[in-house]
Amino acid sequence: MKIVAALALLLASFQDPPKEPPLDPAVQKVCDMIRSRCTALVSQATGSKVKFEEAVALAGKLEETIVEESAKKLGLTPDEVKDAWKKRDRKPRKVAYGDGSWIPSGGQDGGLDSQVKGTPVPDSTDLVGGGPSILTRRKPPPPSEPVPMGKPLKTREEWWATATTGERAAFVEGEFVRKASFVEKKEESKKCPTCNGKGTLNVKRGGLGLTILCNRCHGTKEDLIVVYE
Ligand SMILES: [Zn+2]
Repeated sequence: MKIVAALALLLASFQDPPKEPPLDPAVQKVCDMIRSRCTALVSQATGSKVKFEEAVALAGKLEETIVEESAKKLGLTPDEVKDAWKKRDRKPRKVAYGDGSWIPSGGQDGGLDSQVKGTPVPDSTDLVGGGPSILTRRKPPPPSEPVPMGKPLKTREEWWATATTGERAAFVEGEFVRKASFVEKKEESKKCPTCNGKGTLNVKRGGLGLTILCNRCHGTKEDLIVVYE
């Protein structure tokens, strides 16, 4: 009989993988509060009136603000909140910086995408699609001095000003996580889809072949992804 019981137990253990014990309701309450404060504060820092530097500053102190606000709302001390959070249910969250990856990765902030100077070759297509009469179509003579062939890359502020709400939110959450000490985190990367991980692009500009810095990753080659729980 004993063997049968043991076998039954063994079979049962194969059928039902051991489940995590349910979370203490008090701990669950703290976890829910921290996650909801995180969402709300990231959203605040992403608002259209928030400037880039302000968003970086807000992200840098987000952990502290989340703990303080959660403690206040739950009538606990910040230490009690942190202790409960240590017993949290693990829910991995992935934040993809996407288009804004070059900022934390140290890509070129503004400036030109190429330092090359050259003498542009007149573009023959301009002659075909030109002005209303043959007289106004006459092109000025090409400059005798070489001119900079580079085009401006976005500065960090310009990226922020033109980013979508989702891109801004990923940037703020990513910056918060990278500085936070109360979460476990790891960084992943994938090739920039625009340059396929090369960091540069070959283009034709002013009739000249040119290698420019990729205008998406600003030369950093990779997209940054932060996973945390
Ligand atoms: Zn790229």
